[in-house]
Amino acid sequence: MGKHRVLILGGGFGGLYTARALCRSAAAPAVEVTLVSRTPNFLFLPLLYEILTDEVTDWQIAPPLTEVLPSNCRFIHGDVVGGEFSAGQCRVRVHQSDSDLLLEADTLVLALGNVSDDFGLPGVKTHTRPFRSLADAHALKSAVEEAVRRATGSRETAAFAIIGAGPSGVELAAVVADKLHAELRKVGLPPTQVHLHLVDRLSEILPQYASALRHFAERELARRGVHLHLGVGVAACSASGVELENGAHVAADTIVWTAGSRPTPVLAEFPFVRDRRGRIPVARTLEVPGFPGVYALGDIAASAAAPATAQVAVRQALVVADNIAARLRGAPLREYHYESLGEMMTLGRGTGAANILGLAFDGVTGYLTRRLVYLLAMPDTWHATRVGLSWLGQSIEEVWQAWSVPAATD
Ligand SMILES: Cc1cc2nc3c(=O)[nH]c(=O)nc-3n(C[C@H](O)[C@H](O)[C@H](O)COP(=O)(O)OP(=O)(O)OC[C@H]3O[C@@H](n4cnc5c(N)ncnc54)[C@H](O)[C@@H]3O)c2cc1C
Repeated sequence: MGKHRVLILGGGFGGLYTARALCRSAAAPAVEVTLVSRTPNFLFLPLLYEILTDEVTDWQIAPPLTEVLPSNCRFIHGDVVGGEFSAGQCRVRVHQSDSDLLLEADTLVLALGNVSDDFGLPGVKTHTRPFRSLADAHALKSAVEEAVRRATGSRETAAFAIIGAGPSGVELAAVVADKLHAELRKVGLPPTQVHLHLVDRLSEILPQYASALRHFAERELARRGVHLHLGVGVAACSASGVELENGAHVAADTIVWTAGSRPTPVLAEFPFVRDRRGRIPVARTLEVPGFPGVYALGDIAASAAAPATAQVAVRQALVVADNIAARLRGAPLREYHYESLGEMMTLGRGTGAANILGLAFDGVTGYLTRRLVYLLAMPDTWHATRVGLSWLGQSIEEVWQAWSVPAATD
């Protein structure tokens, strides 16, 4: 009898961690695992902000999938496309050959993640930029550098607006502020040469986080001079800035949209039921009801109260891998129950905040805790070791520079 074919769609937290767990389980000899992803690299999204402040590099947070997938997992770099979907069948446009491939599987795992959602508001698609990929992070970094160059020549103020004061918007505001101020320092301009706005329709930032973290974040944003516009929604965006629902205008040359996300549109091509947010409702076993052998996890799955976080996707991946193996043995399936381990965030260069098991801390302790936890959560031990050593090297170099500069001027 042939091997049991498992097809995993998506090479993010849900897909990659499922593949790794399954290919290293006792079921590995009985399965043939294929993973399809439109990006050739895995992206450790929680560390994406630090691209702006040069605290991380591309290779550290985006290793090639071929490096972090086990050798017994086949990788296809391609787009899952619309067409002839049915349970266990999927059409993929292979990037290398630009041709279509019809893949068949006994078990299908859907982990295709979210995309940015503009809620159909006028001007959002054309005048704002998303922050979800390495390219987005590098483009924003260049926009900051360019804005400061323009301000240097003209002495005009530069203005940035970030829409959404959830974790993404708050973390981004802190690092954009640090990057702007660092660039201004280089050319001898004061911090008043730039304006950075953070807008949200809710009346407080980070409503889903513990109050201690909210307090740390408010303090760090105030310290960086971020202008908060809370309790008022965005009506439209244009080349000159953001129109608010109360009629006010926030002038901005660059607008970053972090206010909404929705499951990747290709899900509409599958025969599965979706909820009003476009997610696939799943059973506690993470199976799609009515489709035995089809699992959905991560951002695209509606699973009780589980939020769209990497933490959830990774834990669900372990359950999916276990359940695929259990089905092969004829054993009962495991259930996924959401439980938060806490929250962590960057609050600018060299500073962070964490709330782990009810214990909240910030500053350098928050920064180091977050770094350590993320290092341990990286998908591959060899990759994590290389990243850890290079972070250590970077820190030693920074300390050395801090010591050697005054010595040179003595
Ligand atoms: C900027 C940012 C910061 C974040 N910070 C945190 C944090 O600090 N902590 C936390 O817990 N969570 C964080 N999150 C959320 C977290 O990253 C997601 O919840 C997590 O990535 C979800 O995993 P996933 O596997 O569902 O989707 P993803 O990790 O997004 O993976 C989706 C995969 O599907 C692939 N794909 C999509 N469409 C197709 C297609 N048509 N064909 C082929 N492949 C396709 C993509 O290339 C990708 O490989 C952050 C998110 C963002 C955007």
